[in-house]
Amino acid sequence: EGLATVIIGRPNVGKSSLLNALAHENRAIVTDIPGTTRDVIEEYVNVRGVPLRLIDTAGIRETEDVVERIGVERSQQMLKRADLILLVLNYHEPLTEEDERLFAMIEGMDAIVIVNKTDLPRRIDMERVKELAAGRPVVGTSLLHEQGIDELEKAIADLF
Ligand code: GDP
Ligand code: MG
Repeated sequence: EGLATVIIGRPNVGKSSLLNALAHENRAIVTDIPGTTRDVIEEYVNVRGVPLRLIDTAGIRETEDVVERIGVERSQQMLKRADLILLVLNYHEPLTEEDERLFAMIEGMDAIVIVNKTDLPRRIDMERVKELAAGRPVVGTSLLHEQGIDELEKAIADLF
């Protein structure tokens, strides 16, 4: 069936790009318009022998848009039942309250923190990221340039 693996993160950090990278195909729509992923997209992938049921969420945030809100509610249900969380952050932006809230939501859960967009100048506080990760793996990626995916796959395989 696969370990339920939920991808979370603020809009535009690269969640859909991550799903595509791990699936080695363009399954989810990637755009620079926040809120593009409205429904939940699932994809079965095998990462170095570990079967994952990858779930790309609509981004957990407050929204006025009804269709998007339904997606957000589904995301929160998915999160509760997850075996593994992939939390995506943006290397090129300072941490936000929303990022901190996401960390609070996944406290005590198996998670890997992915700091994406390392091709751009760093604006994130990596010391704070490591603190919030609380011993869980932190992996830097540039999904746009297909960098860091091997290291991420290794971090996933090492957990199981
Ligand atoms: P989502 O909203 O979290 O699902 O983010 P997407 O995967 O749709 O990506 C949002 C935007 O960021 C798109 O324009 C991507 O091409 C871009 N993007 C994703 N990964 C990277 C990266 O590693 N570097 C840069 N510079 N842009 C990226
Ligand atoms: Mg998306």
